[in-house]
Amino acid sequence: MTEDLSQRTAALVREHLAMPRERVHSLTTTNLNGKLVESLNLLGYLRDFVSASGMELVDAHGRRYLDFLAGYGSVPLGHNHPAVAAAVRAAIDAVVPHFILMAPEALPAALAARIAAISPRSSAQPSELSMAFFMSSGSEAVDGALKLARAVTRRPRFVAAQRGYHGATFGAMAVTGDARLEVFEPLGERTLVPWGDAALIEAQLQKRDVAAVILEPIQAEGGVNLPPAGYLAEVQRLCRRYGTLFILDEVQTGLGRTGTWFACERDGVVPDVLVLAKALSGGLVPISAYVTRPDLWRKAYGTLATCELHCTTYRGGPLACAAALATIEVIEATGLVARADKLGEQLGTRLRAVTAGHPLIREVRGRGLLWGIELAASKDGVAAALIAQWLVVGLLERGIVTQVTTLSPTVIRVEPPLILEEAHIERFCDALRDVLATHATGTIASLVGVGKHLIKQRLDAVLGRAPS
Ligand code: PMP
Repeated sequence: MTEDLSQRTAALVREHLAMPRERVHSLTTTNLNGKLVESLNLLGYLRDFVSASGMELVDAHGRRYLDFLAGYGSVPLGHNHPAVAAAVRAAIDAVVPHFILMAPEALPAALAARIAAISPRSSAQPSELSMAFFMSSGSEAVDGALKLARAVTRRPRFVAAQRGYHGATFGAMAVTGDARLEVFEPLGERTLVPWGDAALIEAQLQKRDVAAVILEPIQAEGGVNLPPAGYLAEVQRLCRRYGTLFILDEVQTGLGRTGTWFACERDGVVPDVLVLAKALSGGLVPISAYVTRPDLWRKAYGTLATCELHCTTYRGGPLACAAALATIEVIEATGLVARADKLGEQLGTRLRAVTAGHPLIREVRGRGLLWGIELAASKDGVAAALIAQWLVVGLLERGIVTQVTTLSPTVIRVEPPLILEEAHIERFCDALRDVLATHATGTIASLVGVGKHLIKQRLDAVLGRAPS
């Protein structure tokens, strides 16, 4: 009976995966998000990706695409990495209990120790960020970090940066610098300051009512904004001075993405709380974490009465922990951090060379394998966000998957898996050069001439922006 059922459920998965694409679209429209399908269609971005391996995605027509989006950073080792899949299978084959919660478990314990061993440190000493708490999404981990800061300091307020992205749950949303979130107000006591000016943060801390300052070491969704020299170190100093915790959200930058294990290492900063997600999943099983110092953890949750005050069912499921352990192992064993650093330099140099002097491009910036290409508004007033989408679709037509950054739709992100090779950089740059070369004669020129207001209105609707 069980065998029959197993064959049946496995067959069901295969059947569903083989369903006609029109049916996938119609079910998505009826039961998930029809407007997403509509907007992808409108932008010319609609593709049916049906399989993926390494750097490549394959669509329903058998067309191959190089992935320069990497699941918004959550596919660090490329798609379906065999070593991550093997670890997950080993956990399944071991018939370990799942979600028992009320017992010490081997895989979360091993993962917490592994993360402690790679966590940033200020000297040759072992890292002080040795206490981990696991969850499933980046947003949840940010919420966990904010809760820890409240419990430690008993202060009400949070300070974050404009254009910082921290997630979609209530706490994470409150510290996200996105004006569109107004519809969810009230979001609690928080102040959003412009990115990059530590004096503005000090002005907020002086009342000593701020539980935590939360920043990304490089703003990813905000448009790949690098911190000014000394900014993060100064914020850390101020936090210490005013008794505020410093949370660094490395959900997107962590685990080698920017050429060091953690982006904050370049700035010589060790935060009080570090938040991880995305890459930790190995692209297979969602998992997130915050890590902090034992003294802070003890202050928040260090009694028999409080040790379960912050608790979730999926804290450290064995499949997720197996995927995360495998991911760290692969990154370390294959030297992907140093590789991200080296290839990142090449990528940046090539992107700058290809875009240099082009009238559509304002700036190329980034570090490691996280780059942004910022578009300039053209002289004839066509919105830069429209041009960015045109470019993104042009790249897609040339077999490259990427997208704009969530909070700055005028910046195209270049965020490949860490397994990138030099030949992939060349393919990306060839495609980019080709699209840029068509700007004066191709689609973008006709957009300028015909119906540009209409298109812009639709684009505003798609991107959820107020019409300008
Ligand atoms: N923080 C940062 C820096 C992120 O980039 C994201 C996701 N883009 C999040 C938090 C939220 O993560 P999730 O979508 O997994 O909730």
